[in-house]
Amino acid sequence: MAMPFPFSAIVGQDEMKTALLLAAIDPSIGGVLVFGDRGTGKSTAVRALAALLPKMRVVVGCPYGCDPANPGAFCDSCKEKAAEGDLKTRQVPVPVIDLPLGATEDRVVGALDLELALTKGEKAFEPGLLARAHRGFLYIDEVNLLEDHLVDLLLDVAASGENVVEREGLSVRHPARFVLVGSGNPEEGELRPQLLDRFGLSVEVKTPTDLPTRIEVIRRRDTYEHDPAAFVEHWKRRDGKLRSRLTAAHKRLGDVSVPDKALERAAELCMALGTDGLRGELTLMRAARALAAFDGDAEVGDKHLRQVAPPALRHRLRRNPLDDSGSSVRVDRALEELFGA
Ligand SMILES: [Zn+2]
Repeated sequence: MAMPFPFSAIVGQDEMKTALLLAAIDPSIGGVLVFGDRGTGKSTAVRALAALLPKMRVVVGCPYGCDPANPGAFCDSCKEKAAEGDLKTRQVPVPVIDLPLGATEDRVVGALDLELALTKGEKAFEPGLLARAHRGFLYIDEVNLLEDHLVDLLLDVAASGENVVEREGLSVRHPARFVLVGSGNPEEGELRPQLLDRFGLSVEVKTPTDLPTRIEVIRRRDTYEHDPAAFVEHWKRRDGKLRSRLTAAHKRLGDVSVPDKALERAAELCMALGTDGLRGELTLMRAARALAAFDGDAEVGDKHLRQVAPPALRHRLRRNPLDDSGSSVRVDRALEELFGA
């Protein structure tokens, strides 16, 4: 789509928008899982966010979109070009790559270029979707229907930031840092708890149930589809403001302090909820820090922890046989006990 729907024109869905913004500010938070009904604008939001981010500079001709500002992470071909002093750069939009459900592992990680192998006998690597997603977003609609081994693989690469392919006599490694966004409809199959836990944030989106919101959603969608250029122009200033805020947050992130008190709170909350392992706490802390950076605050406090706790923790709760309330309710209750209503 040449003109994505403007991010600031998305009506409501605040938790989803915030989760995506936080993952963009600090990709080490990990991927975002978006659960919800069909047609709630999940993929629109990801595309809108990518369009909101400042364009990125890449090395011309590099299949991995290497960052000219980071020669230490260059792929082999960019290293060669740099040595020859032949490095040209250009600006491109942040990529959003769709991973179709039927995609083979070859298509995802890359494979031997069969045509070159057959016609010229050369062993060349044909980069896959992971290469194209580098520095951007990898979007999987209905991640719960994707084969487990592929989800595993994607989460591994997303965590390490590197794609390693060793087979058919090929040995290739290339940078692949991306934010994984998976959408799912809980009625169509569940994700294994071990996989759930590896997504940084999870949000639930619902079709709005109040009349004015529904009308506004339809009105904006209709205006956009009628004349995308005019609609994007209309929202340009608001998107611009948000873009500056994101850029500032990104710069400020390293300076936001996390006091011991905040770490204590995070630990208490995770203990109260009985989340397994330390991943929950780590994500909670990182998400709270990204939020503080976004809000322009110098340190992480209760209000940040409170706001990010539901998306950081709700998918990490074990089923409690004595308590059948939903995980969101349980997180809310623990928050109230810890921080007061
Ligand atoms: Zn490169």
